[in-house]
Amino acid sequence: MKREMLAELLPQFKSLVGKENVLSDLESLKAHGSDETEDLNFPPDLVIIPETVEQLQEVVKVTYAKEIAITPRGAGTGLSGGALPVNGGLVISTKKLNCILEIDQENLIGVVEPGVITEVFQKKVESLGLFYPPDPASRGSCFLGGNMAECSGGPRAVKYGVTKDYVMGMEIVLPDGRLIRHGGKLLKNVTGFNISQLMVGSEGVLGFITKIYLRLLPLPKERVLMLVPFPNLQDSATCVANLFKEGVVPSACELMERDAVLASEKHLGISFPANANQAEAVLIIETDGYTEGQAMTEAERVTEICMELGATDVVLADSSQKQENIWRLRRATGEAVKKEAIYKEEDTVVPRAALPDLISNVKQICQRYGIKSVCYGHAGDGNLHVNILKTGLTNEEWNSKVFEAIEKIFEVTIGLGGTISGEHGIGYVQKRYLPMVYNSDELEVMRAIKNAFDPKGLLNPGKWV
Ligand SMILES: Cc1cc2nc3c(=O)[nH]c(=O)nc-3n(C[C@H](O)[C@H](O)[C@H](O)COP(=O)(O)OP(=O)(O)OC[C@H]3O[C@@H](n4cnc5c(N)ncnc54)[C@H](O)[C@@H]3O)c2cc1C
Repeated sequence: MKREMLAELLPQFKSLVGKENVLSDLESLKAHGSDETEDLNFPPDLVIIPETVEQLQEVVKVTYAKEIAITPRGAGTGLSGGALPVNGGLVISTKKLNCILEIDQENLIGVVEPGVITEVFQKKVESLGLFYPPDPASRGSCFLGGNMAECSGGPRAVKYGVTKDYVMGMEIVLPDGRLIRHGGKLLKNVTGFNISQLMVGSEGVLGFITKIYLRLLPLPKERVLMLVPFPNLQDSATCVANLFKEGVVPSACELMERDAVLASEKHLGISFPANANQAEAVLIIETDGYTEGQAMTEAERVTEICMELGATDVVLADSSQKQENIWRLRRATGEAVKKEAIYKEEDTVVPRAALPDLISNVKQICQRYGIKSVCYGHAGDGNLHVNILKTGLTNEEWNSKVFEAIEKIFEVTIGLGGTISGEHGIGYVQKRYLPMVYNSDELEVMRAIKNAFDPKGLLNPGKWV
């Protein structure tokens, strides 16, 4: 945004949202120029924090008229750079649109604003005996609006599905400031295009999600958590598909290879039980149930299958402290691994049964390029996070090898029937790889949808579409 235009508009924005909600100091601009994607920083020209949807609409009407780029921002925990204002302009933060508007216990539906922290919502519904399953590892800080925009998953997706499976309706502010509604408290709705689902995973390029209707479930009565060490990484991945083949549907099925285990333990200063860090990989498997004994019966079946397929042990986390520690260690993995070195994080996903193939290919490719990889993720969904670390490489070696190695990993992933992002999105950093997944006709359809919502291309420019 040109300096003169900024000076001209500042008083108008301040009168629309209050001067405390317009940030232009360097520190705030820098803070809103990054998310959790690598070490990228693109400071915006201005940050605006509306307190009401009407304020947001008024601000957007001004930016539309003046043709100023705007970027929606949730909590800034994104891993593909979706909230980065890469072309400058305004960042519009949803952090003050943070009301839980309603928990309808008769219809099992929650109605929320986009700035509600995921875990706050989960705890609220749990206090009423209800359950909102999507649980990204960042749930303590990320917002529900960001979860919608990224179609977030998490460990429980394996049994309960991802964010899209809970979205029943939305209100959306379009890039010109108009507000549109779709869906609501209806379990069925085939009335025109499903705009709510189109918004899910749209990564902030179509409109601002300002109100969300979310399906809730009754809270399971019991959960059993197990830690399963394997002396062989491939065997742990093979075991995952076999669990499902044998009719077990765990409520979580996570895989961590040894380097991921070690990084998390070092980062938090606590350990997994049973010397898990000596295994080549561990599975974290949870079962749950609505009737007494159901979770334990499933856990016994899990134990049999894992032991048959090469596990050295199946350790029951028999206290809430042990359970909490295991989940803390798993949730900290991303942060822990990234602390080790400069990195690139990939979010590959393949059909579940292809996971062993994906892992062995990733390891071979990284070995060929002399690059260290650390793998972990939502194995039950076939969703493997591959962290590629710069350890031991010069800048030159890293720059010449890393993109080629990632391309090879994506070629293999796509060849196995998979795709390049399961839950982190394409955003800014993965857009160069999108033509590996979609042909020009497919990309053209996506561009046409973008144009229908945002003909001036002002919303979140420079991103994947
Ligand atoms: C340690 C860590 C662990 C993680 N674990 C997981 C995991 O297990 N599973 C998973 O799926 N993800 C995970 N993530 C990624 C990230 O937390 C999710 O993508 C999350 O949904 C982003 O939410 P946010 O509020 O931080 O959004 P932001 O990062 O602020 O924004 C993400 C995108 O959404 C858009 N956006 C935000 N709010 C709106 C809105 N109201 N309307 C329209 N567009 C909007 C932005 O423009 C941007 O494109 C993890 C991240 C970290 C740092």
